[in-house]
Amino acid sequence: MHDGPGIRTVVFLKGCLFRCVWCCNPESQSRQPQLAFVEEDCVNCGECSKVCDRNVFTSFFGRLKVRHDRCDACGKCIDVCTRKALKIYGQEVTSDEIIAEVLKDRSYYEQSGGGVTFSGGDPLHQFGFLTELLEKSKAEGLDTCVESEGLGSVRQFEELLPLVDTFYYDYKMTDPAVHRRYTGHDNEGVIENLKYLCTHGADVVLRCIIVPGVNDNAAHFKAIAGLGNEFKAIRRIEVFGYHDFGAFKYRRLGMKYGMKGKRSVEPAQVDEWISEIRKYGCDKIIKG
Ligand code: SF4
Ligand code: SF4
Repeated sequence: MHDGPGIRTVVFLKGCLFRCVWCCNPESQSRQPQLAFVEEDCVNCGECSKVCDRNVFTSFFGRLKVRHDRCDACGKCIDVCTRKALKIYGQEVTSDEIIAEVLKDRSYYEQSGGGVTFSGGDPLHQFGFLTELLEKSKAEGLDTCVESEGLGSVRQFEELLPLVDTFYYDYKMTDPAVHRRYTGHDNEGVIENLKYLCTHGADVVLRCIIVPGVNDNAAHFKAIAGLGNEFKAIRRIEVFGYHDFGAFKYRRLGMKYGMKGKRSVEPAQVDEWISEIRKYGCDKIIKG
């Protein structure tokens, strides 16, 4: 209910070119399926290591250690773990399988004005598959949303335009150097693509996450309001505060969390930021 109008099914496509330090969906960064280990559910029975032929599991002082870098996500260990301490994030599916799943809830979409949302990662990372899904969704008469970080080419967004009812578009940082430092990429293309969408008939909801010490500054707030004021196509701007809800997933995936120890932002702080952005004359700002 938060990823477009009405009640929706959200399809998460794995793969993203950004590596935002605060990312709450680390399982969506890599395009490949990945093994997750829920250590608190493991009883160190050793069954997983008996079936794994890649030496992923070792025992260390009575605790199971997982070498994620050795795993090819074959899934054999999942079946033998009676504690359900192992799982695979991501699976290969066809577009027909996805659409069939999405259509199971058609009556909800019809009653609520909802539909299907393609998210990620950044769904543009699997561009051919995304367009296939969108074409099939449209053939079924579904309302479509795409959530994007904006790092595709203008040509890709041009191709998406007739297939997408609403773009949920992330605008992370205004300063290019800060953008590069915290996401691994420039924001030049992101801004160019946003402007293209806004001047070519797209319906856009801008999403802005504010991270204390990173982008909670007047220049960024002014730029957010400026985009809202300049482009009619930006229907709404949703402002979020940083949260650490995804931190546990980094542990499960054997990944390093770059925001370790940083606490989630209080709702009152987000209200304050929204007031500051509104001071620049933009009335489209809401709490995300
Ligand atoms: S099979 Fe499951 S419970 Fe047993 S050691 Fe492996 S992860 Fe732990
Ligand atoms: S998914 Fe396959 S390779 Fe990975 S740990 Fe399990 S059995 Fe080993």
